[in-house]
Amino acid sequence: MPSIQATRMLTPGPTPIPDRVRLAMAAPLPHHRKEPFKKILAENQSMLKKLFCTKTPVIPLASSGTGAMTAAAFNLFAPGEKVLIATAGYFGDRWVDIAKMRGLDPVILRKDAGETFEPEEIRAALDTDSSICGVFIQISETSTGALHPVQEIAAITRERDILLVADGISAVSISPVEMDAWGIDCLLTGSQKGLMLPPGMAFIALSPRAWKKAEENRQQCYYFDLIQERANCAKNQTHYTSPISLMVGLHEALTMLFEYGLEHIYKKQWALTQLTRAGLEAMGLDLMVKKEGCYTWGLTSVRMPDNMPAGPIVARAYKDFGVILTAGQGALKDKVLRVAHMGWVDWADMTAGLHAIAMSLPEKPSGAYLEAALDAYHKALDA
Ligand SMILES: *Cc1c(COP(=O)(O)O)cnc(C)c1O
Repeated sequence: MPSIQATRMLTPGPTPIPDRVRLAMAAPLPHHRKEPFKKILAENQSMLKKLFCTKTPVIPLASSGTGAMTAAAFNLFAPGEKVLIATAGYFGDRWVDIAKMRGLDPVILRKDAGETFEPEEIRAALDTDSSICGVFIQISETSTGALHPVQEIAAITRERDILLVADGISAVSISPVEMDAWGIDCLLTGSQKGLMLPPGMAFIALSPRAWKKAEENRQQCYYFDLIQERANCAKNQTHYTSPISLMVGLHEALTMLFEYGLEHIYKKQWALTQLTRAGLEAMGLDLMVKKEGCYTWGLTSVRMPDNMPAGPIVARAYKDFGVILTAGQGALKDKVLRVAHMGWVDWADMTAGLHAIAMSLPEKPSGAYLEAALDAYHKALDA
């Protein structure tokens, strides 16, 4: 019998695209050097600034999120400079690889998967070496679901001559991030997570002192040249050919976010997080990040016991229920099951996801997980 059901992407990128955004992208292509498109870029720019909570330009790049990470390392730092990299997972380790590729001298502060950094640990590391001129971290480490205390860490770096670079790819538009008020020097994100767009675009903003450092940094990167992009941004242009359709989709997606109101989007994200956590716990699964305040609002992961590897559960949930989940990354492959709840997903998608997981476990849990999940959802929304 054919499977007559929707496919649901509960993955940390890509995420489902709202019809409004898909249809906006289906309109005839505007030319990227003509007025109607410049108007779209101008409006995108003011909405992006509101989203990032910054007064400085938010530079769009035609790349996946890793392109913006690359742009940060190459524009802000010169070979030989010493930087602190706080990593507790797969994406933190990507900062290490990029920093090495740039020829930087990385001091690596590592924690176990699922843990978060204490601001005091960052302070102590910076105190021991006065030549460190940058800190790289994730706001949300998508490989585990840990949320690092970037606001508190920024309070430390902003008092020193040290640039804080924050990967917000699974945080921006998912939970509150206030670039200027917190004192983040470089904030970046991608299009295919909370922003409800297809993959292919990234966004990066620099603080005034980070722009100054980028201006002084002569050896940059040919494609990711933020100085060039800033000059074009001021003219409502991009330096190279714009990803035109994605820019049009971005305009629609940002318009939607602000129609709903960011505070309501964040509240929905919080409520979906509570729903997912309660449901998974009620199935007897072991949440990877337990501490309050330390888990992200866009993804929940559980540690799988050795006799219950994630791979077969992911495969069965897709084959029998049309629900796309993700296993762990790298060494955590079968040990972690990740359930994303970011972007254009709601309570019904998440209860469908929980049901697919429950039915794909080797031993089926009782039905109480759905009740627990929905209770937690409503409690969070009403709070
Ligand atoms: C998804 C993700 C990335 C990688 O983004 P790509 O778009 O695949 O290049 C980097 N960091 C974090 C925190 C992510 O969630």
